[in-house]
Amino acid sequence: MNIENILKYQKADKGLVDIENRLKKSPYKAKEAELQNTKKKATADYRDQEVRGQKFLKDFENIKKNFDMTEKKLKEILAKDVSSMSIEEIERTQAIKEKIEHNLKILQKMFKELDDGISSVTSERIKTVSAVNDSNAKIGLCKKKFEEEEQSLLPEKAKIEKDLKVLEKDVDSETMEKYRKKRQDGIFPVFVELEMGAYCGFCRMEQPKVALSHLKETGVITCEHCKRYIYAPKK
Ligand SMILES: [Zn+2]
Repeated sequence: MNIENILKYQKADKGLVDIENRLKKSPYKAKEAELQNTKKKATADYRDQEVRGQKFLKDFENIKKNFDMTEKKLKEILAKDVSSMSIEEIERTQAIKEKIEHNLKILQKMFKELDDGISSVTSERIKTVSAVNDSNAKIGLCKKKFEEEEQSLLPEKAKIEKDLKVLEKDVDSETMEKYRKKRQDGIFPVFVELEMGAYCGFCRMEQPKVALSHLKETGVITCEHCKRYIYAPKK
């Protein structure tokens, strides 16, 4: 393995890593993620409001039925001919009438409460829909801004990629493959120098003695901790 050449390649590749990191940390990406969260929450709220709204409507129908029935009973009672009734019958009828009137008042109160509930759910839903629309518009804007950022980095990226193609010719295919695999796993730098005769140049983990003697033979070992390739510095 020719360490010098892969190190040259890695040095140039750092430019690409920087671009990738810059895009990964783009404020528009972060903002978009936040907006997607807001949208997700608003969408869940909307479903919840829909369920609540439907329940209110169902309750409303049930109470309406109950109200109509009770009102019909009252009309029947009011239509009775009182003159042919005994005193006891009149008293009983009177008591039923009062009870029905009381029930109607309760039902009316329930109507009012349901009506308030429906109004409040309706206004909540209007707000939720506007929150979703607002998020969508802003997400679109973030995406556009991010694309612009990406586009602006393209010439620099192309230049580095061109340089890498040239540098790659001096690296043996086995080393290149090893490098690419680590790089794809998000490991960078891939090759690091051994420090103070025993430590990984990236994570500072002390390497076992067996590995260090192996390093003398092969020129490269893998750090057990961070999985980077460690090479011995030139003397
Ligand atoms: Zn390490």
